[in-house]
Amino acid sequence: MALNNMGRPTTPQEGTVTSTIETVSGNKALAQRELLIFEVGTPRRTGVDLPEPKGSKSRLGGLERTAEIGLPGLSEPETMRHYVRLSQKNYAIDLGVYPLGSCTMKHNPRLNEKVARLPGFADVHPLQPQETVQGALELIDELAHWICTLTGMPAVAMSPKAGAHGELCGMMAIRAALDAKGADHKRRVLVPESAHGTNPATAVQCGFTVDEIPATDDGRVDLEAMKAKLGDDVAGIMLTNPNTCGLFERDIVEIAELIHGVGGYFYCDGANFNALVGRVRPGDLGIDAMHLNLHKTFSTPHGGGGPGSGPTVLSEALAAYAPVPFVQKNDDAFELVETVEATGGDSFGRMCAFHGQMGMFTRALSYMLSHGSDGLKQATEDAVLNANYVQASLSDVMTVAFPGTCMHEALFDDRFLKDTGVETLDFAKAMIDEGYHPMTMYFPLVVHGAMLIEPTESESKAELDRFIAVMRSLAERATGGDVDSFKAAPIYAPMRRLDETQAARKPVLRWTPGEAAND
Ligand SMILES: *Cc1c(COP(=O)(O)O)cnc(C)c1O
Repeated sequence: MALNNMGRPTTPQEGTVTSTIETVSGNKALAQRELLIFEVGTPRRTGVDLPEPKGSKSRLGGLERTAEIGLPGLSEPETMRHYVRLSQKNYAIDLGVYPLGSCTMKHNPRLNEKVARLPGFADVHPLQPQETVQGALELIDELAHWICTLTGMPAVAMSPKAGAHGELCGMMAIRAALDAKGADHKRRVLVPESAHGTNPATAVQCGFTVDEIPATDDGRVDLEAMKAKLGDDVAGIMLTNPNTCGLFERDIVEIAELIHGVGGYFYCDGANFNALVGRVRPGDLGIDAMHLNLHKTFSTPHGGGGPGSGPTVLSEALAAYAPVPFVQKNDDAFELVETVEATGGDSFGRMCAFHGQMGMFTRALSYMLSHGSDGLKQATEDAVLNANYVQASLSDVMTVAFPGTCMHEALFDDRFLKDTGVETLDFAKAMIDEGYHPMTMYFPLVVHGAMLIEPTESESKAELDRFIAVMRSLAERATGGDVDSFKAAPIYAPMRRLDETQAARKPVLRWTPGEAAND
């Protein structure tokens, strides 16, 4: 029997129960079962216990509440436990490898967090008089300078608050530029088949129609098909580079020339800029507008860790249409240009209340300054190297979708699962049991049963080797005929297989009293 250095057995002893059992509590060791907050709380419980104020008269004039408010009441320890338990059901980049392709789940450096929490940055308010926030405005201006330098573009709109919001900004600038020329007939936007779903959605939001361009067999835009679609009614193209197959669009300069040739604009989805920083400047490729995801490329937290931020760079041709407000440097002070009139009347208007995500700006600039231009380039190269390492290490047991090296993400398809009975979804569920967040599945749509893996530069070789070993063993198990365990997975997750289709089609977003929770 193997013993650890404390003399305790490290392998289960004979006769040990190894099959899973249902516990009385519903907990599984550290994985605590948790009810909805409405089921935990009652209106009569509270975290604070203040005496009724004496002798104060209501000033609500008959509008006092007569029935209970219907919100859950919890004591402080109950509240604490509820949210800590929920947080432990969450997978996070701080917990393990998060290989979601296209999402760039990289480490959020703690230095950024420390800088963002400095009171001078954390405690400013957007409505403070401008002379009291000169440092904050300077920070926005300096970040804008870095973004313009890295992208080789003359202007940037800082206020968009996500990638999709940045797309909206870019397409609204394009729409404003077309309107200014009276080009009402230009309403068709070309979108490659491999585009992120937000691209066609944005084009439609801005009043354009979407015309799809097919992909070639090697995963790029079909240039001949694009040429056939050109015409005077084309407003522009929305294209991702590197594209969602993790490949560089090698005809990109020609695509830019073709679209400009018909008087259209080139929107590039820059969510994958982390594969280009320090190596390629979009401005040199003929791009007119491109959003960056600070929460991808520049390591600021995603979602639960903080809001996103999607600054959008604009070419000379579109710069005048940028939204307000923006920071302008005058002789000795920074100033916010707040109104369309103050821009000379070309700005398409305002996208959000204030000037963008200050906390994310602080983190992104901290990331840029701590890496320096050489470090940013190195991060890009490491991201591409890591993706190619994963691709090469798995290419004998899984099927690589397109031949050749990839950029920052490795794309596999489900040909290796053919006739095994195991599908991409089952494979992903088995990864959960192994403690990994699954990769992006079934996207891009141009690839059957797609598995898109983006390791990012922040995983070490040792961590990648562990991940690769798990993926290899799963692939071998699947092709070795072990269908049942894949269909049963995940076994160890607090929730097993959920009806994801039902959940998407008929989301139950409201809890009704008396209804049992579905656990
Ligand atoms: C993430 C992503 C987006 C959308 O960014 P959000 O910040 O999630 O709105 C758009 N395009 C591509 C290619 C992306 O990867």
